[in-house]
Amino acid sequence: MRSKLVAGNWKMHGGIAQNRVLLDMIVTGTAGLRGADCVVCVPYPYLSQVQSLLQPTHIFWGAQNVSQHDKGAYTGEVSAAMLADFACRYVIVGHSERRALYGEDSRTVALKFRAAQGAGLTPILCVGETLEQREATVTEQVIAEQLDAAIELLGVNALVKSVLAYEPVWAIGTGKTATPQQAQDVHAFIRNRVAAHDIGVATELQILYGGSVKANNAAELFAMPDIDGGLIGGASLVADEFITICRAAQS
Ligand code: PEP
Repeated sequence: MRSKLVAGNWKMHGGIAQNRVLLDMIVTGTAGLRGADCVVCVPYPYLSQVQSLLQPTHIFWGAQNVSQHDKGAYTGEVSAAMLADFACRYVIVGHSERRALYGEDSRTVALKFRAAQGAGLTPILCVGETLEQREATVTEQVIAEQLDAAIELLGVNALVKSVLAYEPVWAIGTGKTATPQQAQDVHAFIRNRVAAHDIGVATELQILYGGSVKANNAAELFAMPDIDGGLIGGASLVADEFITICRAAQS
């Protein structure tokens, strides 16, 4: 039986004072949560703060990106070992904003996935199609290419200690959510594709949905059989919204 996971992606938002207030509210508001884990993926400069505030709590933390390299002359980059120094449990790789704005292709994302696991972190691998691709009915080909890059480089067993996130690009930050059935169809496609390699890995794989998940639509999305929680952008910055979404993931 898969447990649920709700991951907040703060993107480039936050501040020392406001983080403290937000995290205090989230910790209090999610106390006693059953059958679901919560994580906040924060900008690098706040990892130390978040580590010290969340260490004694039930909330996990992580980052939003990682270098594919271990160390070296890569100005501005942050390695997986550095994230491990701050006790990050998770790191997002291949977010559509990284793919679109910073030119990360599926092979680079697979290398980042490998780097994360090499340092003991759990990568949250994002996949998803643009509106143009959905309208051209190539959603499954796009997802397959993004997923297969990791499986080809690392083998299907690498998915055991990872999380997948299906995030249709047209739903991210737009207020347009995929319907529960649209999301379920893609989640089932992903699980079946992994099952073609290994049924056990596919059965255990947590697949999150991301794209304008809010307090008022989380429960119906999380009720779908192949949706194991959410990757939450905007709503993860609003305590009441994020708390309600975490609570909707409870068993
Ligand atoms: C995201 O940033 O991964 C995301 C899903 O954003 P939003 O929830 O704001 O659509």
